[in-house]
Amino acid sequence: MRLTFENQRVLAVVAHPDDAELLCAGTLARARADGAVVGVCVLCQGDKGQPQPPLENLVEVRRQEMTAAAELLGAELLAGGFSDGELFDDSASRQTVIELLRRFRPTLVLAHAAADYHADHRAASQLAEAASWFAASAGQKTASPPLDAPPALWWMDTIEMISFVPQFYVDVSQLVDVKRQMLRCHQSQLARGGDADFSPLETLLLRQCQTRGAQAGVQAAEAFCTHAAWKRTRAW
Ligand SMILES: [Zn+2]
Repeated sequence: MRLTFENQRVLAVVAHPDDAELLCAGTLARARADGAVVGVCVLCQGDKGQPQPPLENLVEVRRQEMTAAAELLGAELLAGGFSDGELFDDSASRQTVIELLRRFRPTLVLAHAAADYHADHRAASQLAEAASWFAASAGQKTASPPLDAPPALWWMDTIEMISFVPQFYVDVSQLVDVKRQMLRCHQSQLARGGDADFSPLETLLLRQCQTRGAQAGVQAAEAFCTHAAWKRTRAW
């Protein structure tokens, strides 16, 4: 069976500038190859992920890095502008994310799993779930008009695959290099590993997609679950 993303608009809603690379960039690249419009919505600025020595203009550097990565993917980049560690599922933040979703108008949202390791990932998970529902509600007013229907929602794998039992896998065997090239755009973060050419972050990326691939009988894969809730499930 081959899943096709034809005619879809696929948006990854992630907490930090380099999360999509680790968890869903291969799937986004496949979607784009199928003719889908793809986007990455990065909620936090990455303003607290300082390398040594620290960068005074870290926010600007990380914006440039995520812009370069999105360009490699051919993805539209949306930014939430939140500070790292200050992402919460509250009323004002929901309004922001609802408006971002209404600007992109996704048919499928990829979101962090509820049990992921970082508090920002967990907050991003809750925000993506709530906002992708309310984005289609006419009662929730923002600058842009509501969506026709809530998008489908897939939970992404967790970092290092902890506490995540996949429902299905997307074969990204041909797209590992895209993930690596995108990750290499984030030099400020690779520098945190001490060796820019062989950083723990790149090791983690390869280990994860190869392990998920081994579980699915292919070279590399990304793992997901569908959001099994009323009006959120879809037949593909
Ligand atoms: Zn993150």
